[in-house]
Amino acid sequence: MTTSSQVVLHGGRAFTADRRRPWAEAVAFDRAGILDVGIAGEVLGRFPDARAIDVGGRTIVPGFVDAHNHFLATGESLSSIDVRYPGVASCDDLVAAIAEAARTTPDGVAIRAYGFDHAKYDRVPTRWDLDRATTLHPVLAYHVSGHHVLVNGAMLQLRGLRDDTPDPPGGELVRDADGRLTGLCLDAAMNLVLPVAVEIGSHGPNFHTAEPLEDLVEAVERAGTAFLRAGLTTVCDAQVTRRELAAYRAAADAGRLPVRTVCMPLSHQLDAYRAIGLAGPFGDDLLRIGAMKFYADGSLIGGTAAFDVPYGERGEFPGSLYHEPDELRTMIVKAHADGWQVGVHAQGDRAIGITLDAFEAAARARPREHRHRLEHAGYPTPEQIRRIAELGIITVNQPRYLRDSGDEFLARLGERAHWLLPLRAELDAGVTVVLSSDSDVASYRPLDVIASAIDRRTLAGAPIGADQALTLEEALFAYTIDASFALRLEDRLGSLEPGKLADVVVIDGDLEATPPDEIATLDIWKTFLDGRPASEAGADPA
Ligand SMILES: [Zn+2]
Repeated sequence: MTTSSQVVLHGGRAFTADRRRPWAEAVAFDRAGILDVGIAGEVLGRFPDARAIDVGGRTIVPGFVDAHNHFLATGESLSSIDVRYPGVASCDDLVAAIAEAARTTPDGVAIRAYGFDHAKYDRVPTRWDLDRATTLHPVLAYHVSGHHVLVNGAMLQLRGLRDDTPDPPGGELVRDADGRLTGLCLDAAMNLVLPVAVEIGSHGPNFHTAEPLEDLVEAVERAGTAFLRAGLTTVCDAQVTRRELAAYRAAADAGRLPVRTVCMPLSHQLDAYRAIGLAGPFGDDLLRIGAMKFYADGSLIGGTAAFDVPYGERGEFPGSLYHEPDELRTMIVKAHADGWQVGVHAQGDRAIGITLDAFEAAARARPREHRHRLEHAGYPTPEQIRRIAELGIITVNQPRYLRDSGDEFLARLGERAHWLLPLRAELDAGVTVVLSSDSDVASYRPLDVIASAIDRRTLAGAPIGADQALTLEEALFAYTIDASFALRLEDRLGSLEPGKLADVVVIDGDLEATPPDEIATLDIWKTFLDGRPASEAGADPA
């Protein structure tokens, strides 16, 4: 029996994410970190006391790094009513799902549903639909984008919203032809209707609802455990308020934070951080503050992304901006001057242009290595890609949207849809391209996202920008070392190199031999965090 904590994984190919030698045969590690990577016979020979695990032809990779994920929201969605497509494919399905929940929910208690996607329905659902499900419970149905919420009459009444309530800046309370609220609240208007724990003004969509801390810690643990099972060892929450930070801190204190967590404080806190003299990165290997998050435009799926030429089958989506361009620039220049790395949500070319102007002004005022990020970067024009490369901006992309919503993109954007996430063009221009999930908007499983980056097919099977597809190896770099670069953690994790933290994953199959359309069906065999088994297929890690 061996008492050493050393492990050697061998018997399959190992993707190292080290560009000098991307593939190896074996990796040795202990709790302190990775010890050796190389040829199986040699590595096994150097660590005779190690526990040798033959992976049986499976593929070894560094723990995946999700650079844009709504961690706590994912945990909350995992315990809410799931109204995603295709399970819920019409207004009637939505009503039925909520009516069923109402039968087992005490009167007056709010019902939450996550993930409806009315682009798949034949019409937009309204409060009157939800009123058919229940009038005894306030209902909140979140749009799959996280940017909109649909509420019923009871919820409108609870929050005192009336037909003459004005729209807030950066948001809209949708009204029908007679001026009546339909219950659909877009972007910054979510603020008005949710029982929010944190006021964020028009800095982003407000999904920061009031819940007891204990429930939030439970949600963190629930999502984190699922992440480990999917091969994720580091996750960056792309919109953090004091609510999220408190939940992660409490979870970490209680030993209930399963994955390394990086927080992106939302921009409404810029002045508060400035007042105490704090800027990211700050923290430790388990929990840290990273870049600051800003929003330029709305949701691509939700119809509020800002394009130069409005999209939609009848050009019905002019897009909306969270801030006037001058205001965004002023904030970003300030954050940059304070030392922040900045990540800006920007989908349409109009929003991307405004954001690049702000980045350029910030860099010119104070040149430094900044690693600013474009979150989503849906539709950068060729000229914008040149600027992105020149300014040293990282794009943080979510190609799973191309599958989940690709058919709507083709209908609403026509030819332009094939230029969504032009990752090949970005790589050719020298841009650092990162893949991520945007969970719970889309699947948190890295292999789902990687499959879509390679395959670029819609749910209906149509190709979408096929010439922009990544190779498997490019997709792996983008989910490991380049994602850790976007988090300023590349010296600690993201690759299998001696001295790095021992976050190692074994995929349950031979990844290189798996056809692209089957990659998403692969499971994760084992996940090691800090050299310890953190999750195992078929076993409950707890
Ligand atoms: Zn997001």
